[in-house]
Amino acid sequence: KELQVAIDGPASAGKSTVAKKIAHRFRYVYCDTGAMYRTVTLKAMQQNVALDDPAALAAMLKTTEIAFKPGNPEQLVFLDGQEVTMAIRQPDVTNQVSTVAAQGTVRADLTERQRKIAEAGGIVMDGRDIGTSVLPKAEVKIFLVASVEERAQRRFKDNAEKGIHTPMDVLRDEIQTRDHKDSTRAISPLTQAADAVRLDTTSLSIDEVVDQISAIITK
Ligand code: C5P
Repeated sequence: KELQVAIDGPASAGKSTVAKKIAHRFRYVYCDTGAMYRTVTLKAMQQNVALDDPAALAAMLKTTEIAFKPGNPEQLVFLDGQEVTMAIRQPDVTNQVSTVAAQGTVRADLTERQRKIAEAGGIVMDGRDIGTSVLPKAEVKIFLVASVEERAQRRFKDNAEKGIHTPMDVLRDEIQTRDHKDSTRAISPLTQAADAVRLDTTSLSIDEVVDQISAIITK
């Protein structure tokens, strides 16, 4: 049976790395909902739409197309036909995305798009509110966590490979600020679903996490 797999958790807990591997293993579709919130944020910034104006963002979304296409090694993200895969990872987008993601109109719009993508099953979707709000009936729900220190270190290493040298204390701060905003917003805040399996990945390898989730899927 083609299941819905929801993977939620705080920033930089390894959700997308693990979700991609699970999708590959089970030949499921992978959907990165954080990329969707980032894409909306990028467009609002480009078009000078106020990031905390729910009506203006809703109007903008009426004519916004977000698409994923297979790419190597990364899935590619398109905004209105333009590739934005790298652009949505820039620090200015990262620092503003939680403000946009707190707007109810934006969440309603993207949640509807996400449900359509997941409708047929055979999906691994990662985000903050997948198990609690987007796919409350998902057969498999995982809540991935890791210590702030470990998450900052993982980001530091990822960055170094890309030639980015943000200091550790800045990364730690960015992670904590974003988690705080995501956990305290009024609508669908970041929280573990009652029926989710919590996995602390602080001292686990990627393969160990993937194996544990795979075992839950095939159970
Ligand atoms: O997963 P990623 O770090 O790319 O997500 C970027 C931001 O998008 C999060 O910090 C959060 O503000 C928002 N988000 C959300 N709900 C989701 C996925 C992401 O609010 N399902």
